[in-house]
Amino acid sequence: MDLENCKLCPRNCGINRMKTQGFCKAPPSIKIARAALHFDEEPPIKGKGGSGAIFFSCCNLRCLYCQNEKISLQNFGKEISVDRLVEIFFELEQQGAENINLVSPTPYLPWIKEAILKAKRQGFSLPFVYNTSGYENKEILKELEGLIDIYLPDFKYACNETAFEYSLCKDYVERTKEALQEMVQQTGPNQFDENGRMIKGVLVRHLVLPFHEKESKEILFYLYHTYHHQIYLSIMNQYTPLDSTKTHPVLSQTLSKKAYEDVLEYALRLGIENAFIQEEGTAEEAWIPSFCLEGVNKES
Ligand code: SF4
Repeated sequence: MDLENCKLCPRNCGINRMKTQGFCKAPPSIKIARAALHFDEEPPIKGKGGSGAIFFSCCNLRCLYCQNEKISLQNFGKEISVDRLVEIFFELEQQGAENINLVSPTPYLPWIKEAILKAKRQGFSLPFVYNTSGYENKEILKELEGLIDIYLPDFKYACNETAFEYSLCKDYVERTKEALQEMVQQTGPNQFDENGRMIKGVLVRHLVLPFHEKESKEILFYLYHTYHHQIYLSIMNQYTPLDSTKTHPVLSQTLSKKAYEDVLEYALRLGIENAFIQEEGTAEEAWIPSFCLEGVNKES
């Protein structure tokens, strides 16, 4: 993880992170926007106590429909030290978190790795969740082996043309497939505790986009025929048009109930059993977390 030649993600900017910024615009230290219990994750991730979600600022994608654009595109957040991140892990544990959910952590991996190692040396034992867009460098992921318990990647697109048009990413499909392979190899089969909480494994999220059911089906086909029942899936309907997409011919639309059901029926026909689905009514702006540095500053 060489910060003087940053290749932490497949953008491979090759810049010196201590002196300049690459595509993601991440600074030369950890930057976060929120650290709080989060109850909008899948049941085995949120458990009863909620997931201890730490939202990292900046992102290596440019999704036109990003719900977290305040932190991913506008880079809102506060820079903190590795030691402060370790304290946040313990604070979330004290609040009852079931796990530590690292949301979009990629540009900060060297510091996060250091923080996890420090926390473990101090006896920290909650599972660590790596919550990512899926666009990861598999060689960098290898360095996280044994530190991450649960991988929670998106699988957004089956075709790079769509990935480029919506997320400015021309090799999303290949890099995400490689990264997922590494994640599954690292965690092995999914494991749950006696309360149904996930303690090890991979849960892949796919957000069905309006008028892209065919691409959703391609993704489900690939995931099922590659991993069968080894991974869990979350097939999501919460696509929410934003002010910034209101003139876009596709992304200004909502996902129809019929289109979502069509994708779910396809998943059933394929034989997919381990999948979470969403009820109607989740596609509302209220679902978007508020970013106001909650849990970021040291408690006095
Ligand atoms: S983490 Fe940021 S700077 Fe590093 S390669 Fe990726 S986009 Fe470029």
